Amino acid sequence: MSDCLFCKIAAGEIPSKRVYEDEVCVAFYDIDPQAPTHFLVIPRQHIASVAEVGEDNAALAGHMLAVIAKVAKDLGLDSYRVVSNCGEQAGQSVHHLHFHVLSGRDMTWPPG
Ligand code: 5GP
Ligand code: ZN
Repeated sequence: MSDCLFCKIAAGEIPSKRVYEDEVCVAFYDIDPQAPTHFLVIPRQHIASVAEVGEDNAALAGHMLAVIAKVAKDLGLDSYRVVSNCGEQAGQSVHHLHFHVLSGRDMTWPPG
């Protein structure tokens, strides 16, 4: 999608501090971290949110979770939170599927 921020980050048109990438997805540090470690995992393909994940792209979503586990392990994270905001009321500001991975501080439940 030509005007999508995360499509541009995935394509390298906008710089980011990458922590992992493969042919399917890219992981990079959030520009406004909400925890000592805060990175995002996005697919290279434009998918608007979790609401657009179906059986046709379920393998991609599963791969993204495997990447989260791998990167977290590589970074030595032993406890972390995975979040995907879906829709305006949930706080989604970039309409390209992404998982937040947050770690390094105590977290509360329920989230705000
Ligand atoms: P959302 O609000 O959609 O759940 O998450 C979007 C995230 O993208 C936010 O945490 C925000 O800080 C991050 N973000 C927005 N623009 C950029 C950018 O240009 N670079 C990086 N690395 N992160 C960004
Ligand atoms: Zn996109």
